[in-house]
Amino acid sequence: MSLELLQKEYEALRAKAIKLDLTRGKPAPEQLELSNELLALPGTGDFTAEGATDVRNYGGLQGLAEARKLLSSLLGAPAEQVVLANNASLSLMHDTIIFSLVKGNADSAKPWGKEEEISLLCPVPGYDRHFRICEDYGIEMIPVAMNADGPDMDEVERLVAADASIRGIWCVPKYSNPTGAVYSDAVIERLASMKTAAKDFRIFWDNAYGVHHLTDEKIEIANILERAAAHGNANRPFVFASTSKITFSGAGIGGFAASKENVAWLLARLTPRTIGPDKVNQLRHVRFLKDAAGIAALMEKHRALLAPKFAAVEEIFAAGLTGLKDVSWTKPKGGYFTSLDVPAGCAKRVVSLAKDAGVVLTPAGATHPYGKDEADRTIRIAPSFPKPEDVRAAAEAVVLCVKLACAEKEAG
Ligand code: PLP
Repeated sequence: MSLELLQKEYEALRAKAIKLDLTRGKPAPEQLELSNELLALPGTGDFTAEGATDVRNYGGLQGLAEARKLLSSLLGAPAEQVVLANNASLSLMHDTIIFSLVKGNADSAKPWGKEEEISLLCPVPGYDRHFRICEDYGIEMIPVAMNADGPDMDEVERLVAADASIRGIWCVPKYSNPTGAVYSDAVIERLASMKTAAKDFRIFWDNAYGVHHLTDEKIEIANILERAAAHGNANRPFVFASTSKITFSGAGIGGFAASKENVAWLLARLTPRTIGPDKVNQLRHVRFLKDAAGIAALMEKHRALLAPKFAAVEEIFAAGLTGLKDVSWTKPKGGYFTSLDVPAGCAKRVVSLAKDAGVVLTPAGATHPYGKDEADRTIRIAPSFPKPEDVRAAAEAVVLCVKLACAEKEAG
């Protein structure tokens, strides 16, 4: 279609004055409804947990035993190697970084903050809040390319072997934010076994979407804790997960799993911070979710609501964008996002065109460290929150904006 025709179509879209939002990777209200039972749990007479623990009182720093059992398969570790904190997992990631900066981790010669320079590898595109933690605390971010099967491991291995300032890597191993990529077993093996110049190197393994399948395939990945231990690197992974997108976002349980030594390290760091987590909330989750099968059954209900929205985006992108030069998008089998790549130099333009037409997209660049996508190519699409008909309308608008930005670029 010519530039002129696309401009006309775009003006017609603007005239409709729609108001849609594809920025938010959060559950839709219908998904939250699925867990409303939680609002009445554990109930007025139910406050005793395993070991005669009174959940109304202080204590139990590591989290309730039955709650740790409940989340043990999600975190991929036995309950003894799980620490449950409060409402969500990002704060645990933040705290493990802060504790490392101030005190060092279990293998550090001195606190990270006392080193000349500390850096973390950041697979890109990635999750902006990981990057924000680094940026706020002066940790340099080194981008590495994210492929369909995980980070570019040749590059990762080269960098970590050569540079002792690199103390870790951010990983969203399953249904990654934002591409939906799943780490292959081969990539996990290399992460678990690679030689690192820093002996206190940590993998920040953010398994935020471990049970968030969108297809029947229900992909399972290799267990990073087991693989790292098998290679003599038991302390390398810090695993994180939460119930944020299982029950209530930001009103669930955040979890950490790691080697016994790392668990002892974290508990020591948490001791001055808190007398214990919110055990009432942990018990409520145990009563509601019951076990891994209970979680899986609930996730099926989420999937029934989410999968059609992702299918709509795929159908509309495929119909409108197939064959457009340098335009591609991911087809996630789980998680909360799709990533759309447009020709170099066009992402900001697409986001701005969409905004002027009433469709808010995540700012271009948000998927990269320091908010800088040098190629200006990547746009994160989050279809979970809007109603299905709004997802369709927003995806159609995005298609038009991409076509128009491409035509503008070609016209120079
Ligand atoms: N990690 C990733 C990759 C996410 O996409 C999100 C939310 O979007 C979070 C963590 C936040 O998790 P929580 O709610 O447990 O802090």
